[in-house]
Amino acid sequence: MKIEEAWAFTSWAVDRCLLCGQKPLRYRGVFLPNDPELWPGGPLAPGKIRSFWYGLCKKCAKRKDVPEAVEAVILRDQTHSPDTRH
Ligand SMILES: [Zn+2]
Repeated sequence: MKIEEAWAFTSWAVDRCLLCGQKPLRYRGVFLPNDPELWPGGPLAPGKIRSFWYGLCKKCAKRKDVPEAVEAVILRDQTHSPDTRH
């Protein structure tokens, strides 16, 4: 998927703030995990990256701990995902 296509995808797939669940979004971003082995499905083929698109409302975008909070929510959701391999 090209970056432009991914961006268009988020415009309908991501419509709520990742951190508080509110609308409307003020920002959209993409999270690229440092350690792909943490993620369901295991390591990716060489040259591939796994990305997680998210949105933030105006209020949450101002938080000082945005990167840490975003990562914590995403990893928590992955842990609870039924797709996660144990
Ligand atoms: Zn928010």
